[in-house]
Amino acid sequence: MSVLIFIDAADGHVKKSSFEALTYGAQLAKQLGTSAEGVLLGTVGDDIAALGKYGVTKIHHVANDALNRFDAQVYTKAIADVATAAGATVIVLSHNVTGKAVSPRLSARLKAGVITGAVGLPDTSSSFVVKKAVFSGKAFANVAINTAVKIVSLSPNSFQTAEVGGTAEVVAANVTVDAPKVKVTATNKVTGQVPLSEAELVVSGGRGLKGPENWGMVEELASLLGAATACSRPVADAHWRPHHEHVGQTGGAIAPNLYIAIGISGAIQHLAGVNRSKVIVVINKDPEAPFFKAADYGIVGDAFDVVPKLIAEVKKM
Ligand code: FAD
Repeated sequence: MSVLIFIDAADGHVKKSSFEALTYGAQLAKQLGTSAEGVLLGTVGDDIAALGKYGVTKIHHVANDALNRFDAQVYTKAIADVATAAGATVIVLSHNVTGKAVSPRLSARLKAGVITGAVGLPDTSSSFVVKKAVFSGKAFANVAINTAVKIVSLSPNSFQTAEVGGTAEVVAANVTVDAPKVKVTATNKVTGQVPLSEAELVVSGGRGLKGPENWGMVEELASLLGAATACSRPVADAHWRPHHEHVGQTGGAIAPNLYIAIGISGAIQHLAGVNRSKVIVVINKDPEAPFFKAADYGIVGDAFDVVPKLIAEVKKM
């Protein structure tokens, strides 16, 4: 048994979710009595060896600029080749956009069982059983993998990052990088905002805000807190806000430290995307709004009264 962790990076930097995956993989390797190694694709500005502080002893680096842009097929082949060469029997990825695209492809390529969205370390006492959330986080299932090679993608924010110290040996991985079959002709990058998937703080608005003309206070609060902005699905469907801000079952799944929901009812489909937030603050004028059941702090009040007061208080800080 050996554990290989995929280190996801974008724009020249290792993503926060990779620190959780590295910690998870290192603790799993310890549990299995084996070593934990990482695989990193493309070039990054970060100190790769320093990632050893999460418990990995070696990092296989495919330093090919062609990998600086994500392509699911190209990434899958490169990770599979490194995994095979390294003799990895467990492959760990983050259950983010990259992991969701790569895990099933890797599973097919390596004929490996896969469990997506794990929320804890496997029980390896008799077989290999992993707990994962199902039905939009309403229930948990314990799922066993019986194949020789196993793939686990870890749900973001479900595992505490831990630094154990040390540096990793960085080795150049000798794999052939395929040419992508899909050509990206243009990208529209959202600038000036914290990316939602990486955001520690998120201020989100729903239909209770009545219209796009009222988003100024959401943006102002977010800007003062250094937070990203998000919204419920009907808000994006009505084009009050761009679609990439839509969170929930059919939108992005986020796991910030603080989620402030303004004028959002808290339907189960919305909660599915935000219920892994560490602290949830709900502002809603209806005391019966379902979101209050999921809230750590709730303010029953009119958003147009509460939010400006909140902004004034934050400005005093
Ligand atoms: P509403 O349900 O209209 O709620 C508005 C809230 O604002 C109410 O609670 C009201 O009390 C409050 N309010 C009104 N005025 C004020 C005020 N002045 N001050 C304070 N509070 C006020 N939804 C998502 O968000 N994400 C998803 O991914 C998603 N996926 C879905 C998938 C499926 C298959 C289906 C069927 C639905 C999905 N939905 C999703 C829709 C979801 O069921 C809800 O309809 C939606 O989340 C409601 O959005 P909302 O809370 O903004 O609006």
